[in-house]
Amino acid sequence: MDQVDAHCDARAVLIVTKQFEGTASNVAKNRVDLVCGLPSGHDGDHRDAAHGESWEHPADRVFTILRHEDEV
Ligand SMILES: [Zn+2]
Repeated sequence: MDQVDAHCDARAVLIVTKQFEGTASNVAKNRVDLVCGLPSGHDGDHRDAAHGESWEHPADRVFTILRHEDEV
């Protein structure tokens, strides 16, 4: 690559779902947009340090992370 970018800028969306009692469906509770802040061309997983999340995915596509959260 000829172009030098400060950041990788790969994107992901973290969706936290929660299952309501008495139902079988998960409902989206929270949505967080993640942006990789590592240097462009880095090795390994993408990482959003601000949100403490990392994900492994090729660039140029938005990756969706689904996480189920149980409320006790
Ligand atoms: Zn990255």
